[in-house]
Amino acid sequence: MSLDGAYDPANIFAKILRGEAPCVKVFEDEHVFAFMDVFPQSRGHTLVIPKQSTARNLLEEDPKVLAHLMTGVQRIARAVRSALAPDGLVITQYNGAPAGQTVFHLHVHIIPRWSDQPLGRHASGTMADMDELKALAEQISAMIS
Ligand code: AMP
Repeated sequence: MSLDGAYDPANIFAKILRGEAPCVKVFEDEHVFAFMDVFPQSRGHTLVIPKQSTARNLLEEDPKVLAHLMTGVQRIARAVRSALAPDGLVITQYNGAPAGQTVFHLHVHIIPRWSDQPLGRHASGTMADMDELKALAEQISAMIS
């Protein structure tokens, strides 16, 4: 899907938001929902999405929703840092399939990095172990202030 097109309410993140698809939840408030990426690029890879949104990408988003989203991203990124003590954090977001986007509900990736560990490939590889993801989600969630 290019930058043009319509929001598909059947996308997987919309289903997760509606409780129609499972996820390993980290955090939720009025504005944002955070959960573990099931094809993590590193240990602790977390996704943050706006709850009240039909934007496929950043360009389409209402600036007020975007402000709440980025506030949520900062809050959760701080918790990831506290929980997992990474050496760095990638905060990233893709717009359109040619840019690498694979799910078309606006979302931001929080990817912890360790100096001695390579970054995994984006949106590929084997699915993470669910028990491990749940343990990570609990660790991160406990650090959200
Ligand atoms: P993007 O390619 O930027 O659209 O990112 C989509 C991300 O969602 C990728 O990192 C995928 O690994 C991840 N993903 C896809 N399906 C699910 C799912 N059901 N639950 C959690 N993460 C998912």
